[in-house]
Amino acid sequence: MIQRTISQITKMIKVENDVSPFADTMINGVCIDTRKLQSGNLFIPFKGQNVDGHKYVEDAIKNGAAGSLWQKDVPNPPTHLPIILVENTEVALQELARNYRSELTIKIVGVTGSNGKTTTKDIITAMLSEKYVVQKTEGNYNNHLGLPITILSLNEETDVAVLEMGMSARGEIEFLTKMAKPDIAIITNIGEAHLQDLGSREGIAEAKLEITKGLSEDGLFIYIGDEPLLKEREHLYNNFRVKTFGKSKSNDVFPIYIEKKDHGSIFSVNIAPDKHLFLPVLGEYNVLNALAGIIAALELDLSLEEIESGLKSLKLSAMRMELHSGIKGTQVINDAYNASPTSMKAAIHMLENLDQDERKIVVLGDMLELGENEIQFHKEVGSILNPEKIHYVFTYGELGKYIAESASEQFPPTRVFHFSDKQELIQSLKSIIKGDEWILVKGSRGMKLEEVVKSLIEN
Ligand code: ATP
Ligand code: MG
Repeated sequence: MIQRTISQITKMIKVENDVSPFADTMINGVCIDTRKLQSGNLFIPFKGQNVDGHKYVEDAIKNGAAGSLWQKDVPNPPTHLPIILVENTEVALQELARNYRSELTIKIVGVTGSNGKTTTKDIITAMLSEKYVVQKTEGNYNNHLGLPITILSLNEETDVAVLEMGMSARGEIEFLTKMAKPDIAIITNIGEAHLQDLGSREGIAEAKLEITKGLSEDGLFIYIGDEPLLKEREHLYNNFRVKTFGKSKSNDVFPIYIEKKDHGSIFSVNIAPDKHLFLPVLGEYNVLNALAGIIAALELDLSLEEIESGLKSLKLSAMRMELHSGIKGTQVINDAYNASPTSMKAAIHMLENLDQDERKIVVLGDMLELGENEIQFHKEVGSILNPEKIHYVFTYGELGKYIAESASEQFPPTRVFHFSDKQELIQSLKSIIKGDEWILVKGSRGMKLEEVVKSLIEN
């Protein structure tokens, strides 16, 4: 994490008051939430719509913060404390991160895309950790606040940082990438998330491509070459090196062999045809995420052996395609971390194509934040469910109802169940399980479908 004196900090951001009495005070890291405060942190309060963080400043300092920023339009800054007055605390946080980044000599890998950012970040971190000291974005700290906080958490002795960049509107990725200045920039895929704000898939592609605007001059841009919207803009990628991955043989890196296993996939790639790599997570799209990672790892001089053993040791962040042994011999796939139309369809496709003969059950909840076409998106998910491959469809939530509604057009009524009460869903689900089924549980974060998973893996 950032370790600078207050006097050094004043050279990184524009400070509006005299801080000379505290000039030599050392800052160790930043914190925006007093519940997570660590001794020596610089506390950064935001003037939020509901809560004004400035009312926690005195507490933060009592609890060990070395100092605090203070937005100058907030009255009565405490005069006896190490207070740094700034025009706007959010802007100051971002400015501090931008300057700290430029002082760091570590390599940065930036990952964006509609789906698979966190997974790809985890895959890359697992591989690079075989050779380097690696830090990564924790959880989903991928936006205009999460990214600067992550950058300010980087240690100067770290070799590589793998940073996730998320967005919901144009300009956001440009802002983030110019702060993170990645040496390697990755676009995992272009989906349908945030169609509402960006108008079209073209709009999404252009927004993701903003990641290249912060790429260093000799940087490497890695993208999914199977995506025509990215491929057809190839002529724009002149200012940096480019490598593509994907299923198609026209990519720089593509799989030549994929074998589905109970706990993941064995695959090999064109650039190392004799190496059989094991990826311990389900889903063919995760093989693609791994390809992006392999290109990044090779760029950072990893050997194929290091890539192989890094992949093998991969543990995904919680609730992404987590496989559990459940009650009565079931296999429960916990993908309850989040859901969008693309990721929902990918996960369903993965389940449908598992080689197992056992019955398959989906438990699907609302996909939130989809804007005005939300009902349509849910109906689409229902319509892709294949009654030949999926035995039962369970849905939950106000929008989940539309998944059930459109699934009912293909499925007999005895195989589709909608619930607005989670406990009732759990009871009903448990009552139809015979044993040996594969159960996929997926929905948006807010739906907390991990509660269903928990009930299935507890005895
Ligand atoms: P968020 O925007 O919530 O941060 P993310 O981009 O970080 O999402 P992940 O958390 O890695 O995405 O994955 C979310 C889900 O998306 C996975 O559980 C999986 O179902 C699906 N997914 C992952 N990778 C891909 C991919 N390459 N293509 C399509 N779907 C994918
Ligand atoms: Mg994520």
